[in-house]
Amino acid sequence: MITEAKYHPTAEQLGGFARGTVTAGMNVVISAHVELCKECRGRTISLEAEAAAEMLQSVPETRPQSKDFSGIIDSIVKQPQLQTDEQASDPVTEIHMLEHSVSLPKVLAKVASEGLVWKKLAGGINQASVTLDDQTQCEFLYMKPGSQVPVHKHQGSEVTLVLDGSFSDESGHYKQSDFVVRTASDMHQPASEEGCLCFAVLDSPLTFTKGLARLLNPFIRYRFRRATAAASH
Ligand SMILES: [Zn+2]
Repeated sequence: MITEAKYHPTAEQLGGFARGTVTAGMNVVISAHVELCKECRGRTISLEAEAAAEMLQSVPETRPQSKDFSGIIDSIVKQPQLQTDEQASDPVTEIHMLEHSVSLPKVLAKVASEGLVWKKLAGGINQASVTLDDQTQCEFLYMKPGSQVPVHKHQGSEVTLVLDGSFSDESGHYKQSDFVVRTASDMHQPASEEGCLCFAVLDSPLTFTKGLARLLNPFIRYRFRRATAAASH
């Protein structure tokens, strides 16, 4: 059973997702939420149609009639609807993870099927990192019942999608399908009474993607990971 989300991506995040301008990590976590959330599926369809219309408008008009033009828009608006109806009928895939079976959105089941290596962190937290691009740090997080993450703060923004169970922090209680956004200035201390499986995406503080700077990336990522690990001890 999928519960309806109370927390959703920001307008900016969903807009970037519809336009295809977000990182692969963000794309996966937003796409997983959209699979679970009817409201955001609807919003994504309109945003995609808007983006398509803008794109067509920016193409200089060469013909006098615009009949074809509206025909094109109609077909664009229709296409994503077909896709999401399909997704809605079978939105999740059951996989065995840790001690129990959990239902995952298709996009995450695919990521998890590549093989997850779980690491135990302090405080009853288990983490399985996945690499989706070189600008984000993505991971499945499993919080055992009664576990608590020490108060922490990160340099980038953090998105957490709840897949199973629930957790709380100073600002609220988050359940399955909820999309929790924390920015660099937020301090928080997540805790889970009943246990919780999440998928989290952290935006790395430095995003060199070109030339010589790219070679520095392993070091930057190492430092970034170390900072994250230190924060969770
Ligand atoms: Zn939503």
